[in-house]
Amino acid sequence: MPAPTRFHVDLDALHHNLVVARRLAGGRQVLAPVKANAYGHGLVEVARSIQERGTAEWLGIAVTAEGAQLRATGVTLPILKFSPTLPEDLDEAIAADITLSVGDAAAISQAQDAARRAGREVAVHLKIDTGMRRVGAEPVQAEELAEQIVAAANLRLQGVFTHLPISDVDEGDDFTHEQLARFDEVVERIEAVAGQVELVHSANSGAVLGHDLGRTNLIRPGIMVYGSYPDVVGSHPADLRDVGRWTSRVNFVKRINAGESVGYGRTWTAERDTWIATVAVGYGDGYSRLNSSRGRMLIGGVSYPVAGRVCMDQTMIDLGPEPPAVAVGDEVVLIGTSGGQRIGVEELAQLMGTITYEVTCLIAGRVERTY
Ligand SMILES: *Cc1c(COP(=O)(O)O)cnc(C)c1O
Repeated sequence: MPAPTRFHVDLDALHHNLVVARRLAGGRQVLAPVKANAYGHGLVEVARSIQERGTAEWLGIAVTAEGAQLRATGVTLPILKFSPTLPEDLDEAIAADITLSVGDAAAISQAQDAARRAGREVAVHLKIDTGMRRVGAEPVQAEELAEQIVAAANLRLQGVFTHLPISDVDEGDDFTHEQLARFDEVVERIEAVAGQVELVHSANSGAVLGHDLGRTNLIRPGIMVYGSYPDVVGSHPADLRDVGRWTSRVNFVKRINAGESVGYGRTWTAERDTWIATVAVGYGDGYSRLNSSRGRMLIGGVSYPVAGRVCMDQTMIDLGPEPPAVAVGDEVVLIGTSGGQRIGVEELAQLMGTITYEVTCLIAGRVERTY
């Protein structure tokens, strides 16, 4: 039995977006971030499909368990773990053949110890902090750390990378240019002591869409692969396709009288006699409670406003005073198109006061993913 609430992922659209990213990046290699359940789209299915179609050379994850799950399900593409790995996770990460990010001397020696325990060589990417101030080495430490990696018999300095916190908005252009210039200079110094580095990378979606990628030879576009822009405004349009379509079903229809309230807290009161449909989705599915009396849903190409508070498992919408064309079992579109109407991820993000990334990441595990 299909679940009433589903998130359908258009893999053709996702691959199209990967191709667009590569084209914008002048044919550079592509690392597809699949962290956080592939931004909510399904870790294993997305990764496997990328591997089958060959639309990226690398995958990117955030936590060791994601990598272990990918290996357990037959994914053989190289996997870079973006974030630092705690010492107790290193053995599992190395067993799963995850490429590690390192950003200080302690992390390098811990990786070295773990590589020795595993009896094999481990590839690492040295993370340089050029302005994000989150993780990574100070630029002045770059050569010393690179030398430490090169000197470690069981480690291989395969990559050098940095991250760009404001590559997605025009006001950040100067800051990003400075970061990229600093990064170029750091890479030059590293290569002077460590020899040529195989992979040099800095570009997230914002940079792929709007910046000169310089001497880098790999890109890390995430959100654009999933069909959205990193910034809600999006000043660098590209030929991206919608990837996710989130639907639920009507599970009840009733008529209520003017003056009656709908839902918890009695926050919404009918101004006129009207018809209410209840939809089988709530904040327990990741349909944010911030949509209460503010969001809208599509049925048969018609838009209906959310009436009252989003519940954990159900949400009510106002169908209006006329006898409704809507019936129990009808498909309800939360994200996607219906007839000539469209609700984009960015519309929900704007309404919730957040970014597109969070909207799909919040879609709960109980929502069935289909492909
Ligand atoms: C998530 C992530 C990306 C992808 O960023 P988008 O803005 O989704 O393109 C790239 N690099 C690192 C290090 C990340 O953590």
